[in-house]
Amino acid sequence: MQRLSELVIRPETTARWLRQSLTRAHPPQALLLVGAPGVGKRTVANALIAAWLCPQRTPDGACGACESCLKWSEEGSHPDLRVLRPSPDQIKIESVREARQWMNFAPTIAPFRFVLIEEAHRLNPAAANALLKTLEEPPPRYHFVLTSPASDLLIATILSRCQLVRLGVVPIAELAAILVARGVEPAKAQRIAELSEGAIGRALRWSQTDAVEWQTLESMLALFATLGSAPSISALRLAEQFRALCKQLEGGADETSARAALATGLEYLLRWYRDSLAPPEKRQFASHHAALEQLARRTPPAQRLEHIARITEARRAILGNANAQIITEDLFIHLLA
Ligand SMILES: [Zn+2]
Repeated sequence: MQRLSELVIRPETTARWLRQSLTRAHPPQALLLVGAPGVGKRTVANALIAAWLCPQRTPDGACGACESCLKWSEEGSHPDLRVLRPSPDQIKIESVREARQWMNFAPTIAPFRFVLIEEAHRLNPAAANALLKTLEEPPPRYHFVLTSPASDLLIATILSRCQLVRLGVVPIAELAAILVARGVEPAKAQRIAELSEGAIGRALRWSQTDAVEWQTLESMLALFATLGSAPSISALRLAEQFRALCKQLEGGADETSARAALATGLEYLLRWYRDSLAPPEKRQFASHHAALEQLARRTPPAQRLEHIARITEARRAILGNANAQIITEDLFIHLLA
């Protein structure tokens, strides 16, 4: 179990507020944790709930030794916790109904009971309505934590019942230093920090040795790095490699679909081109300075702006229903023309 004090939480005001919330006699009725993907919403939610369920909590978090703490598990099998999450892409009313049944009973070992709703914006309309009824009249000693990438993705009636807590990103240099302190080699730490855009949860996941997602994105950047020198004849091969890399982003923790994975790949390509237009000190992919400069020499700024428009258009087409092979081949032919 991770204690709240072990987590890197930004901004500082949020960290302070969360610590203080643990000194009160009762948890907030419903808390909504909002932040970009990979920022650590689930980790923070887990540390908070574990602390609230612990009768010996301190502002640092749960004690780690009491009956409740010993029953804690990240999978949500604690007897006083129910976790609702999308399966595969929606939270359906059955899950909410099942949780409501469970809510007929008093806490078993902890002073409170919690319902954690991950990715609450994926509650389908029926489930959201059922949840709303529960939020309006919660049984005593029942509390809720919701997570979502953005507050405006939730219906206003649910939002109005929740206390909003925003989790932010960590500055790139600071994040790289945190990774180095945890044993990651400095150059790799810098590249992970850049790619994760300061989302600490994602960066920590990627710094593990078998992080396939990160290795894939690294390979993708290596492919983009050839765009400044690749002959136009290699366009189809690059398009094929690009699709193969996107395919590796399918599935995973977020159940990414084939189209969403391609859109993600194109999103990174977009950032690569935008980065080439930014002044060196403002670049996201600072580690790839030489390759970005090479692209800048090959393609004048006006043409790169046009390429950005093309990539944006390709991304939209993919998210529509266009043929992925045709779209990516057209795109790479155009980029290398
Ligand atoms: Zn405890």
